[in-house]
Amino acid sequence: MAKPGRNDLCPCGSGRKYKKCCESKERSRASGRLMMILVGAAVLAAVLVGIASFTGERATGPTRVWSTEHGHYHDASGTAVP
Ligand SMILES: [Zn+2]
Ligand SMILES: [Zn+2]
Repeated sequence: MAKPGRNDLCPCGSGRKYKKCCESKERSRASGRLMMILVGAAVLAAVLVGIASFTGERATGPTRVWSTEHGHYHDASGTAVP
Protein backbone atom coordinates (compact mmCIF):
# COMPACT_ATOMS: atom_id res chain seq x y z
CA MET A 1 0.00 0.00 0.00
CA ALA A 2 1.41 3.38 -1.04
CA LYS A 3 1.81 6.22 1.39
CA PRO A 4 -0.69 9.00 0.59
CA GLY A 5 0.71 12.20 -0.92
CA ARG A 6 0.08 15.43 0.96
CA ASN A 7 -2.06 16.75 -1.93
CA ASP A 8 -4.01 13.50 -2.36
CA LEU A 9 -7.41 12.87 -0.87
CA CYS A 10 -7.18 11.81 2.74
CA PRO A 11 -7.50 8.05 3.25
CA CYS A 12 -9.97 8.66 6.11
CA GLY A 13 -12.65 9.48 3.52
CA SER A 14 -13.35 13.05 4.60
CA GLY A 15 -12.94 14.25 1.00
CA ARG A 16 -10.28 16.77 2.06
CA LYS A 17 -6.63 16.73 1.11
CA TYR A 18 -4.41 14.70 3.37
CA LYS A 19 -2.30 17.77 4.32
CA LYS A 20 -5.47 19.62 5.37
CA CYS A 21 -6.93 16.64 7.21
CA CYS A 22 -5.24 13.82 9.05
CA GLU A 23 -1.67 14.98 8.49
CA SER A 24 -2.26 18.14 10.56
CA LYS A 25 -4.20 16.09 13.12
CA GLU A 26 -1.29 13.71 13.46
CA ARG A 27 1.08 16.65 13.83
CA SER A 28 -1.06 18.45 16.43
CA ARG A 29 -1.47 15.23 18.37
CA ALA A 30 2.31 14.77 18.43
CA SER A 31 2.95 18.38 19.49
CA GLY A 32 0.19 18.10 22.11
CA ARG A 33 1.99 15.14 23.63
CA LEU A 34 5.25 17.12 23.57
CA MET A 35 3.52 20.05 25.30
CA MET A 36 2.20 17.69 27.96
CA ILE A 37 5.73 16.42 28.60
CA LEU A 38 7.07 20.00 28.78
CA VAL A 39 4.28 21.11 31.14
CA GLY A 40 4.85 18.02 33.28
CA ALA A 41 8.57 18.76 33.47
CA ALA A 42 7.87 22.42 34.32
CA VAL A 43 5.46 21.43 37.08
CA LEU A 44 7.95 18.91 38.45
CA ALA A 45 10.72 21.55 38.39
CA ALA A 46 8.46 24.08 40.12
CA VAL A 47 7.60 21.54 42.82
CA LEU A 48 11.27 20.69 43.33
CA VAL A 49 12.22 24.40 43.54
CA GLY A 50 9.32 24.96 45.94
CA ILE A 51 10.47 22.13 48.20
CA ALA A 52 14.08 23.37 48.05
CA SER A 53 13.12 26.96 48.95
CA PHE A 54 10.76 25.73 51.67
CA THR A 55 13.36 23.54 53.37
CA GLY A 56 16.04 26.20 52.81
CA GLU A 57 13.86 28.80 54.49
CA ARG A 58 13.23 26.49 57.40
CA ALA A 59 16.94 25.80 57.81
CA THR A 60 18.16 29.40 57.52
CA GLY A 61 15.13 31.10 59.05
CA PRO A 62 15.38 33.09 62.26
CA THR A 63 15.49 30.93 65.35
CA ARG A 64 14.81 33.85 67.64
CA VAL A 65 12.31 36.67 67.09
CA TRP A 66 12.41 39.85 69.18
CA SER A 67 9.03 40.74 70.69
CA THR A 68 8.73 44.47 71.37
CA GLU A 69 5.45 43.75 73.18
CA HIS A 70 7.08 41.41 75.67
CA GLY A 71 10.56 42.93 75.72
CA HIS A 72 12.29 39.58 75.14
CA TYR A 73 13.09 37.06 72.43
CA HIS A 74 10.78 34.30 71.31
CA ASP A 75 12.09 31.21 69.54
CA ALA A 76 10.62 29.88 66.27
CA SER A 77 7.93 27.88 68.04
CA GLY A 78 6.74 30.97 69.95
CA THR A 79 8.21 30.08 73.33
CA ALA A 80 9.78 32.87 75.36
CA VAL A 81 13.58 32.92 75.43
CA PRO A 82 15.14 34.69 78.43
ZN1 LIG B 1 -8.41 12.52 7.28
ZN1 LIG C 1 6.85 36.79 75.31
